[in-house]
Amino acid sequence: MSVTHQSLLDAMDGIAIVLDEELRISQIGKTNWEKFIDDNPPPQDAAPRNLTNESVVGLPITDFFAGDAVRATFGDLFKKVLGGARPAVQIDYRCDAPELRRDMRLSVSPIITGADKRYLLYQSVTLAVQQRPKLPLFCAPVADQEAEDILTLCAICARVAWPIGAPTGAREWIDSAEYYRRDGEEVAVISHGFFEECFARLQDED
Ligand SMILES: [Zn+2]
Repeated sequence: MSVTHQSLLDAMDGIAIVLDEELRISQIGKTNWEKFIDDNPPPQDAAPRNLTNESVVGLPITDFFAGDAVRATFGDLFKKVLGGARPAVQIDYRCDAPELRRDMRLSVSPIITGADKRYLLYQSVTLAVQQRPKLPLFCAPVADQEAEDILTLCAICARVAWPIGAPTGAREWIDSAEYYRRDGEEVAVISHGFFEECFARLQDED
């Protein structure tokens, strides 16, 4: 019996993916990916996507991040690890469902092959899941851009920029449950951005 790359990936905790030097999915841990896709149906209005193991190979990992700014920031971070400017990225983040608080950890580290070609190991594991009363804003589809009239959710800590539409320096980042305590309105669409402290942490973390 031999341990192949694929059998290792299949045995790893969470979502485990090998990325190539263009940050495209090159190999994927199958068991947990299938479970993840089953557990996370797309928002109601979203076009159905084929997300089987086979069909996601070749897609850029950044396709799975919502919002242009968030996508660009994570893409830059991962490229720094690829190029050796950073040893790794490790960040704890929230990925909630309407009735679940989910605490996650993302680690991205270089795979040393000895060859010229470089790869990254991308691993996202669940640290804790807690049932809680429904917060409908976590059902809303995510727009590509932040805009004045759109609620912005921090892509790392899931805090909400309050009040909606306030300029960057004048907004406060509040817990998503606090948003409803302050009579925040139901929203049809949200955007993802970064609370300044989370953005700073993302740049420093190793
Ligand atoms: Zn945050």
